[in-house]
Amino acid sequence: MKDILGREIDYLRLSITDLCNLRCRYCMPESGICKKSHDQMLSQEEMVFAVKACASLGIKKVRLTGGEPLVKGNILSICESVKSVDGIETLCMTTNGILLKNMAHDLKHSGVDALNISLDTLNADKFQYMTRGGNLSDVLSGLDAALSSGFNKVKINAVLYGGFNDDEIADLAGLTMKYPVDVRFIELMPMDSSLGYDRKAFISCETVLEKLKDFGLSKVGMDGVSRTYRLSGAQANIGLISPLSLSFCQSCNRIRITADGKVKPCLHSGEELSIKGLDYDGMKAVIEKAILAKPACHKNLSFDEASDAGRTMNRIGG
Ligand code: SAM
Ligand code: SF4
Repeated sequence: MKDILGREIDYLRLSITDLCNLRCRYCMPESGICKKSHDQMLSQEEMVFAVKACASLGIKKVRLTGGEPLVKGNILSICESVKSVDGIETLCMTTNGILLKNMAHDLKHSGVDALNISLDTLNADKFQYMTRGGNLSDVLSGLDAALSSGFNKVKINAVLYGGFNDDEIADLAGLTMKYPVDVRFIELMPMDSSLGYDRKAFISCETVLEKLKDFGLSKVGMDGVSRTYRLSGAQANIGLISPLSLSFCQSCNRIRITADGKVKPCLHSGEELSIKGLDYDGMKAVIEKAILAKPACHKNLSFDEASDAGRTMNRIGG
């Protein structure tokens, strides 16, 4: 359906867990989070009701996210049941890739059409530092497994972090020469102030263009919220997602549902509408209200003031 500004809302980001097997410094506190009881979180049945309600309102694409979706024991069953909802044409997932090696094949057979894998560095020590303990080789094996399992829509998401990976922009972009995989650079967003962002950590996507200017980069166009470019001879595109330096609110097509059952009309607004415990009709009414409550734009983000989201990213889903 259209929101009050005429934007067609056809994309749902469904976070299925707050929990994660990594602790990325820009996303979640080192101590993890207070685990909520089962009855505070959406059950699989409620997730499927919510997706059915969304589909009846015109949602066609669902992205499963988290926390880390692959730590969820019933992930394959969730994928199958979401994909079988009438009206859902595309099922995507965003994952840190740590568990992907042994799961890629089954995910493909459970109806997942496309994977985004988060990868901010190609240096094993830096990876371990930023994720507080993760193993880079697990992610690289996961990427190989995704490609050999027949996923032909795989993207890598790299969050730009000044002083951490701005010296690796060319190497990360170079993955598009080696693999048929888009690499998208994402500006760091100042989510919860408890994460204590360093002001120097923010760098704009323009830095990517600057760093790649001598590598034969040509403009391709827009792909959703991403400005796309291509290196000559590459197998895939480079994308720039610039929530701070270039707002894309006017073309926003999405709503979010958190693992504890809150519909978020906007990533950077504190407004949340609960669907936990509602039946199908109740959920549909709330989701419709949330779509109509989408703001024209969120406030200008800056590192002087955190987002109004009121949650760390692992509790929203990105
Ligand atoms: N665990 C999965 C993963 O890392 O891909 C899915 C959930 S994670 C919250 C979704 C995306 O949000 C990841 O690509 C992650 O890099 C990104 N993200 C987390 N915190 C962010 C921040 N402060 N600014 C920009 N992107 C962020
Ligand atoms: Fe976990 Fe993803 Fe957040 Fe990293 S970005 S801590 S992998 S939820």
